[in-house]
Amino acid sequence: MPDAPAMDRLAPSDVDQLRRSIRGDVIASDDPGYDDARRLWNAIHDRRPAVIARPIDADEVATAVAFARDRDLEIQVRSGGHSKVGLRGRDGGLVVDMSAMRGVDVDRARRIARVNGGSLLGELDVAAQAHGLVTPVGVVGHTGVAGLTLGGGVGRLQRHFGLTIDNLVAVELVTADGRQVRASADDEPELFWGLRGAGWNFGIATAFEFRLHPFGPNLHRGLFLYPASQVHEVFDAFRDYARSAPDAVAVILNLDRAGERSGAPEAMFGKPVVYVAYNHSGDAADVERDTAGLRRGPAPMAATTASQPYLDVQTAHDLLFAWGNRSFIRGTNADDVRPEALDELVGLVGSAQGDNTISITALGGAIGRLPEDATAYAGRSAAFDLSADSSWTDPALDDVNIDWCRRAVAVIEADAVLGRYANGNADAGPEQSRLIFGDAKVARLAALKRAWDPDNVFHVNHNIAPAGGDAAGD
Ligand SMILES: Cc1cc2nc3c(=O)[nH]c(=O)nc-3n(C[C@H](O)[C@H](O)[C@H](O)COP(=O)(O)OP(=O)(O)OC[C@H]3O[C@@H](n4cnc5c(N)ncnc54)[C@H](O)[C@@H]3O)c2cc1C
Repeated sequence: MPDAPAMDRLAPSDVDQLRRSIRGDVIASDDPGYDDARRLWNAIHDRRPAVIARPIDADEVATAVAFARDRDLEIQVRSGGHSKVGLRGRDGGLVVDMSAMRGVDVDRARRIARVNGGSLLGELDVAAQAHGLVTPVGVVGHTGVAGLTLGGGVGRLQRHFGLTIDNLVAVELVTADGRQVRASADDEPELFWGLRGAGWNFGIATAFEFRLHPFGPNLHRGLFLYPASQVHEVFDAFRDYARSAPDAVAVILNLDRAGERSGAPEAMFGKPVVYVAYNHSGDAADVERDTAGLRRGPAPMAATTASQPYLDVQTAHDLLFAWGNRSFIRGTNADDVRPEALDELVGLVGSAQGDNTISITALGGAIGRLPEDATAYAGRSAAFDLSADSSWTDPALDDVNIDWCRRAVAVIEADAVLGRYANGNADAGPEQSRLIFGDAKVARLAALKRAWDPDNVFHVNHNIAPAGGDAAGD
């Protein structure tokens, strides 16, 4: 890995050369628009790259990679800019910003979407739904397809249709040596294996092909609210339901604080509460039957159910998760949560100083039916993904909220099983990579890394160093 100098300016002649080499925008640190162009979704990350390039095709991506390698510039790749890890590179590198490479083409007859590398989830959702089709992605429309997909992809439809990577037919990428490679079940199958879970390590994805499923237009939803004093009974009912829930039902339990629009009585505002929410992606006529098990627990304080267009649901949180907040997330897979851990988590939610939530998402369904070694993503047999998420605006609260997320995950460490969702873990480093992928997959990924990126050019991510582990560190 090149040891990039900590500088944020390149010689003007170098910048000019890059400008002459690609038709896409090239933005240097003294250009107007630089501060806007270097901004990331998560305001805790404030990197000052030497130059930002916006290639318009795969050839230009290869040119940008060669330009950076010739000058020992660290390469940071960016599509949606949502990374919680935050492109934690050093100042002074080259950002390959894929935002000029957007666009989705749907082949309705073959039920395949071809998605350019810089596209956002909302573009894929809209293009597929125009044909009554879908591929399962995440829950906020302005997230990048690339970053989400290359780490796995969880959301509202995954128990039904599998992870986003389980619907991936092929990835086209530019590798560290500038080659343009197609990876699929037939072409470079081992690379295709690694791209599905640890994919940011092997190159810059310039296009994806996804399998599409007939679906929509509506998603059927329910939300039940309980006082935190009932957390044990509610969790028991949720866990038992999740164990045998129909694939069409995505279900999540959240520990949060009651807000004004929560449906809780005013006296509870600001106090910890429990939400159980489902998204049913099957027939409306089956919803009552399929979710009956969720109502076996205590009676909720408030309950809402509705059927809404999938596209409305998929963008409903876009403003809530707008750019500019400070954010941190940690998580782990678990098969159960001990009662005393639930009590501690409720206590943590009550003492939080940001907009902090603990969510327990049921995995299983189609996710758990693929064998563990099918993809680099690890932990397919886990029952739950438990994650602690914090959002705040005051930089003075950075340490306290980051520490809050780490403490919440420490509480359920005793319940943890193989696998941590890479895209749901803002801490990175060799130990995190081992927890995310497990030792056996780290070894297999390291062999792949030696084959495709022996100099660890692509390391600003949950990195697999060619020698194993993570050479970039935290
Ligand atoms: C508001 C919000 C909502 C989210 N919701 C979900 C969700 O519902 N489901 C879910 O699974 N995840 C979710 N995530 C997590 C999300 O999947 C990750 O943050 C993901 O990394 C975002 O990808 P991006 O392209 O937007 O980010 P970027 O910051 O652009 O990139 C993220 C990582 O991917 C690499 N990368 C980006 N583009 C490419 C490319 N073309 N080729 C190779 N590597 C590339 C980068 O180097 C970086 O390491 C959410 C995140 C946020 C902030």
